[in-house]
Amino acid sequence: MLVSAKEMLQKAKAGHYAVGQFNINNLEWTKCILQTAQECNSPVILGVSEGAGKYMTGFKTVVGMVKGMLEEMNITVPVAIHLDHGSYEGCMKCIEAGFSSIMFDGSHYPIEENVAKTKELVAICAEKGMSLEAEVGAIGGEEDGVIGKGECADPNECKAIADLGVDMLAAGIGNIHGKYPANWAGLSFETLDAIQQLTGEMPLVLHGGTGIPADMIKKAIDLGVAKINVNTECQLSFAAATREYIEAGKDQQGKGYDPRKLLAPGCEAIKATVKEKMELFGSINKA
Ligand SMILES: [Zn+2]
Repeated sequence: MLVSAKEMLQKAKAGHYAVGQFNINNLEWTKCILQTAQECNSPVILGVSEGAGKYMTGFKTVVGMVKGMLEEMNITVPVAIHLDHGSYEGCMKCIEAGFSSIMFDGSHYPIEENVAKTKELVAICAEKGMSLEAEVGAIGGEEDGVIGKGECADPNECKAIADLGVDMLAAGIGNIHGKYPANWAGLSFETLDAIQQLTGEMPLVLHGGTGIPADMIKKAIDLGVAKINVNTECQLSFAAATREYIEAGKDQQGKGYDPRKLLAPGCEAIKATVKEKMELFGSINKA
């Protein structure tokens, strides 16, 4: 069932667990994530970056594919289609295409401009019944060519953006996208705690979920994180399983070259990764 992320995240925050956002790249990714969510009876957020949207030929294709799957696969758990790190223009396109949720990444604008654009999007989302994520303090690493260094957000700026009426807030707390370097300093729980003290009920979002140790994830959830984004980890597990299949020469045995066979081990790997994350985040049987 296609829904906004608002209610599932409010429930998660109140229930001290987090809902996973898993980014999709194609039909296999989408199908595997939906199957796992249904099997685990877990709410789920399908993340779509602007780059992935373009790769899939456009946001309308994404909405058509997801809606088709929800029906054909009898998916009854709550599912949101969410724009990940949207530009202002990208947000407008997704609103038109029928997404149920968007993230406006205004973190690179001066705070005044971030506020003005966020206000405008708050009004549109409220009217359309969509949920809106805002970001304060750039999240490090590379996301579709945008490079940040893993800074910590100013809790007062977080409060100012939260008060505009967004549904969830991504704040930089030393987290980064992609693989974490060996010398990574870890999450700043002091920053997270200060943000949660000021923003109260607001579900907080942790980006860059790949490779954050399980105990840090649990502590972040205790401190108000209700949505955790996972992207790289599914890519790594898919690639490793596909490599193993080809290196074992299985694509050259019988009809092992059939894409449905060739991509099957990677699909199983994505499902295993998603399930493992749902277990860690505590969202199983919370649909
Ligand atoms: Zn992100």
